[in-house]
Amino acid sequence: MIVDLHNHTTLCNHATGSMREYINRAIEKNIDIFGFSDHAPMNYDTKYRMSFDDMQSYEESIKELADEYKDKIEIVSGYEVDWIDGYIDDRVINANVDYLIGSVHFLDGWGFDNPEFIGKYKEIDIDELWNRYFKTITKMVKSNMFDIVGHIDLIKVFKFLPTKDIYQFVEETLDTIAKSNMAIELNSAGYRKPIGEAYPSKEILQMAYDRNIPITIGSDAHSIEQVGMYQDKIYQFAKSTGYKKIVSYKSRVPIEYPI
Ligand SMILES: [Zn+2]
Ligand SMILES: [Zn+2]
Repeated sequence: MIVDLHNHTTLCNHATGSMREYINRAIEKNIDIFGFSDHAPMNYDTKYRMSFDDMQSYEESIKELADEYKDKIEIVSGYEVDWIDGYIDDRVINANVDYLIGSVHFLDGWGFDNPEFIGKYKEIDIDELWNRYFKTITKMVKSNMFDIVGHIDLIKVFKFLPTKDIYQFVEETLDTIAKSNMAIELNSAGYRKPIGEAYPSKEILQMAYDRNIPITIGSDAHSIEQVGMYQDKIYQFAKSTGYKKIVSYKSRVPIEYPI
């Protein structure tokens, strides 16, 4: 079963290609369940995400396409929601979609995965940053608002790695996820980034597996050709770690499938 739940649309202002083109590409890639999870609206850095006014047409378009393509592919709906204290909006959290991905892209107002602001890495203590990043993920998990942890070690994107063992940064986060109902995603976008590996790393995925944390899979596509890119590689990665199942969602309920 091939599932790909993390895909964007042009509504976020930094992706290209129509929803229909993404779906056609997904069919070509033999994806069984394809999910749109565009950057949810938020009154924060608004140029990087859809607006609240777009939500209805986004959700309706997905429903219409799901119906139109139902004989060829299952299409599900979601949002990727930024976890930023004080900005979480009930309209998104209670949206009528299949799943919500919770992601951290900002720490104290710094978009740390944005190449535009890469200069700031020179000014910071990298271990303190990694610590703060995973503490923020833990807080997001404890909010109980989301179904999937998005790209759990995104902080490695530019290859600014900690000087200490990764274990001490992620142990508490993974223990918290294990106690929640959340899954983590294996996100293949990392292969396209300077770090050159999936999110999460082999080490973190192994720790997740040891804690029975469910996984799902996403391309994090922002263009047509990124849909299903590195699909074989990421499924191989999941299997080689020992995973035999992945989850998808229907109306916020996880459903397991064999891989
Ligand atoms: Zn994006
Ligand atoms: Zn993201």
